Amino acid sequence: MNSNSLIELDRAHLIHPVASYRGHEKLGVRVLASAKGATVTDASGRQLVDGFAGLWCVNAGFGHETIVEAAAKQMRELPYATAYFGLGSEPAIRLASELAERAPGDLNHVYFTLGGSDAIDSTIRFIRYYWIARREPQRDQFISVEQGYHGSSTAGAGLTALPAFHTGFGIPFDWQHKISSHYAYRNPVGDDPQAIIAASLTALRRKVEEIGPERVAAFYAEPIQGSGGVLVPPRGWMKAMRELCRELGILFVADEVITGFGRTGPLFASTEDEIVPDFITTAKGLTSGYVPMGAVFMADHIYQTIADGAGASAIGHGYTYSAHPVSAAVGLEVLKLYENGLLENGVKAGARLMGGLESLRDHPLVGDVRGRGMLAAIELVIDKANKTPLPAAAEPARRIFDRAWENGLVIRAFANGVLGYAPPLCCSETEIEAIIERTRQTLDETLEDPDVRQALKT
Ligand code: PLP
Repeated sequence: MNSNSLIELDRAHLIHPVASYRGHEKLGVRVLASAKGATVTDASGRQLVDGFAGLWCVNAGFGHETIVEAAAKQMRELPYATAYFGLGSEPAIRLASELAERAPGDLNHVYFTLGGSDAIDSTIRFIRYYWIARREPQRDQFISVEQGYHGSSTAGAGLTALPAFHTGFGIPFDWQHKISSHYAYRNPVGDDPQAIIAASLTALRRKVEEIGPERVAAFYAEPIQGSGGVLVPPRGWMKAMRELCRELGILFVADEVITGFGRTGPLFASTEDEIVPDFITTAKGLTSGYVPMGAVFMADHIYQTIADGAGASAIGHGYTYSAHPVSAAVGLEVLKLYENGLLENGVKAGARLMGGLESLRDHPLVGDVRGRGMLAAIELVIDKANKTPLPAAAEPARRIFDRAWENGLVIRAFANGVLGYAPPLCCSETEIEAIIERTRQTLDETLEDPDVRQALKT
């Protein structure tokens, strides 16, 4: 089928996630045809370096025969097994145990989902169950961080703090609260790490006080805020917040859907942050995006409380595809790859990526460079002293994405002029260099954008 007819079929029938439906109808889809390593090829044969690993998920890179084989073998042997009725499958059991062995502290219990949104949704349900089992049912209030992203399930989208996920949906609910982000580049307290940490601690204390300390169930945070624009907290931020939650007697959830599985270096960013949360949520890199799967890691004390609370009764939370054997077989193979050189390569490539992006700091449009490992961003401004964002008239999300695409690079361009990077961990030195050079070219072209020039003049 040629790509023109695909574009028409797409326009007529496929609803795209997080898109303006009218805008998409106008622009049409770009069809991807194949991929290998860190290179994707579109339907017209154009090859691009994927600087975003799909949607921050193809950590292992594309086209790994051993992953394909693991999935095919499992499909032949046992393509589906329910985990209901006390049944199970070998790959799911093995993957849970391998992961529990590597997870921080006593996060020994693993609940497999289909992705990140239902992992978050599962934690909300487990946390409510936990507090009811503890005979504190009034603890039904949840706190998260401005600019945070926790998926788009009905409950999770209200913990998400990005307007597009709320507007028109009637959320957040009144039990969902936010504190301001650590966003160092635009923080009212300035960029001093200790001041930022102190401000967040005060904000959380105040919020808990305001809600009523006996009513708060849990606090959610990402080790690095991804969809909010790759906002990296100062070192020690997660640890300080975790310790405060313990002091306040509320549960702490580290949402590692992006940061898990080597994105920032180790398998879990929580290890780097030296914390043991009550829950960790993961997805994406768990299967490297080859098949859908997420995982909730639950601390031992939570598991025991929930289990005792229910006694002989069933805990009514589950999906047909919970602990899917094909996804688990893929997860086991991907885990092997991480530990046989991929994590190590990611650390080296991440240092190159950060070095390369730092070298763009002197570009007239680059206001900030931030990141950790293979998760990074640059923030574009038209005036470095005043940190004035690119004008909306320059349509940063669309035009910069398009220019990068024309230059053979896939990146994420946010509406506020932040460019996000999350390349596959398998990237070679040459591929990282290509990402940087193509970014430079894209920035030079953006400088020539009439709407940017106009803003620069005024
Ligand atoms: N949590 C975080 C931190 C995420 O970045 C995402 C997705 O990007 C999610 C949750 C939701 O995951 P999914 O898109 O797999 O539902």
